[in-house]
Amino acid sequence: MFRRLGKTDKIRAGLKRSRDTWIASISRLVRSPRLDESLWEELEEVLILADVGVSTTAALVKKIKSQAKDKHLSEPSEVLDVMRDEIVEILQSAGSNREIYHSDASNPKVILLVGVNGVGKTTSIAKLANHFKQRDLKVLLAASDTFRAAAIDQLNGWGRKLEIDVISHGAGGDPAAIAFDALEAARARSVDLLIVDTAGRLHTNSNLMEEMKKISRVISRIDPEAPHEVLLVLDATTGQNGLIQARAFSEAAGCTGVFIAKLDGTAKGGIVVPIVLELGLPILFIGTGEGAEDIAPFHPREFVDELFSINSD
Ligand code: GDP
Repeated sequence: MFRRLGKTDKIRAGLKRSRDTWIASISRLVRSPRLDESLWEELEEVLILADVGVSTTAALVKKIKSQAKDKHLSEPSEVLDVMRDEIVEILQSAGSNREIYHSDASNPKVILLVGVNGVGKTTSIAKLANHFKQRDLKVLLAASDTFRAAAIDQLNGWGRKLEIDVISHGAGGDPAAIAFDALEAARARSVDLLIVDTAGRLHTNSNLMEEMKKISRVISRIDPEAPHEVLLVLDATTGQNGLIQARAFSEAAGCTGVFIAKLDGTAKGGIVVPIVLELGLPILFIGTGEGAEDIAPFHPREFVDELFSINSD
């Protein structure tokens, strides 16, 4: 339909700020005449600038050094390749690339989206809905973030724009009851995929856990497998600071994967590494702008190649 950019272009565009930040260091690194101490320092600088994190950087550089020795590498560009491979391996360690939908309309797949207010959750729901709609799946949305009337309005607004139905009750309604109604409606309407918005701010983790459990319990009366995925939306621009909160949130909500929003807004795209290491969850999608089409499925190899590309644009 209205796909302007290919998937890789989107990843590339989303990582522009990141790449611009360390392109000079990478170019210097590749131009190094030999594998000496200054090359390892340059490599460390690139990784720290990328927000890979101090301890992970130290461990990575140590590993790359020992591989360079074992494989008798002599070219700095080969070192860069080893670094890319190592990072891809980390990003794949929590799993990835799985299809998070199926087109069995008699048994709609249910995805819960969770995340702290402001991270980009509603926009990410719209992007996911649009992404799947463009792949000819029938999508339905459920406005179970009933804490804020604005959240319901926002989701309904996206629904109108994308021509995707939204099941909502008024503000203050019971989130689990809405999810239940929505799943019943999804079955009745032969929907492939139901995406459920959830509250972004609950006073304590135990509240959050109770609400998530209740939603899961209630919808599992219709389908014991539901919800099939619980995606945590993280704001890439909060960097390492967001990680502690993300961990608590992810544990409380029983997350199965991550949606990284606002990747285009940060120069620290390497944050994906500590996210995967810290949360032990696969990254499934990235958000690369404010529009519904600004989304790309996350593929570690493509992502890392773009992140540490030596071609600026
Ligand atoms: P929510 O409170 O978590 O539901 O967050 P919203 O979906 O309302 O998003 C908060 C702000 O972030 C809005 O201004 C969005 O347009 C913006 N936003 C969301 N995702 C992205 C993204 O991938 N890139 C950029 N640049 N902005 C985004």
